[in-house]
Amino acid sequence: RAKSLGRNGFQLFDAELRDEIQTRARLGNELRAAIANDELTLHFQPLYTMPGNRICACEALTRWQHPVQGMIPPDQFIGLAEENGLIHDLGEWVLRAACREAATWPEHLKVAVNVSPIQLRNPRFVDIVESALQQAGLEPARLEIEITENIFVQNSATNRDILQKLGEMGCGIVLDDFGTGYSSLGYLRSFRFQKIKIDRSFVRELPEKGASSIIQAIINLAHGMDIPITAEGVETQDQWAQLNALGCNQVQGFLLGRPQPADSIRQHIQCAAEMV
Ligand code: C2E
Ligand code: MG
Ligand code: MG
Ligand code: MG
Repeated sequence: RAKSLGRNGFQLFDAELRDEIQTRARLGNELRAAIANDELTLHFQPLYTMPGNRICACEALTRWQHPVQGMIPPDQFIGLAEENGLIHDLGEWVLRAACREAATWPEHLKVAVNVSPIQLRNPRFVDIVESALQQAGLEPARLEIEITENIFVQNSATNRDILQKLGEMGCGIVLDDFGTGYSSLGYLRSFRFQKIKIDRSFVRELPEKGASSIIQAIINLAHGMDIPITAEGVETQDQWAQLNALGCNQVQGFLLGRPQPADSIRQHIQCAAEMV
């Protein structure tokens, strides 16, 4: 009895695993087609100066407009694209589309683009960034490349060289989701980031004392190295006030603006300009 249960259990697991693999393979094929057929779209979320509350940049966040499943969020396809190599084509599409869009904005506004560490393995990566900027007619200084901290886990010397080159071109290199993942303070010395973004998980826990001590420590550390700090995921007035008191330099979050389609962010930018 126990044996047959075990067998059934095993078969069930087998079937589930097979379904899962098939689903991912299908989704992978659909994603490949989606990149070619322009089913991907960018939303943009504004970043604001603190305490001034002026819009200073927008982060490009990729969405997949699936014909059947509707809008698929990036958490459900970026990992897949990293596994099957599609991240290279996807990332190139994102860079080009984001630069094109940013070229229509007032010149003081930057665009932030998320780049997967896998994309740095492409020997053409620096050329792709250069070409995206050039085709869009966008100054390199208006592009911020957001990269997560696990970047330095693999192949650190090569990655550092690539980031260095992009920095020399004039692009801003931003350390995203700081405080999560493979946290090590060593790489803050090995590469000079232009900005550090504190992960949403810390901001969410404000005003809890542990969270505010960690944020304070990160801000002190960054400011000690003359690196400005952005906080992501700011949802309440209280969180905003605390981050302001802690000396945070920029904020991003639903309190101030959600990710939105390009035409809507353009209106938003225009309204902000008229209010000044
Ligand atoms: P991220 O780079 O840390 O982007 C911020 C995420 O937090 C976005 O989720 C944004 O919608 C969300 N967010 C912003 N403010 C708030 C808030 O106040 N409350 C809450 N609850 N959430 C907030 P999204 O758009 O789902 O993107 C998730 C992640 O997917 C991004 O995290 C980024 O790591 C990745 N991603 C998105 N687009 C791309 C892309 O084009 N390339 C790559 N490599 N990764 C991307
Ligand atoms: Mg980001
Ligand atoms: Mg982030
Ligand atoms: Mg994050």
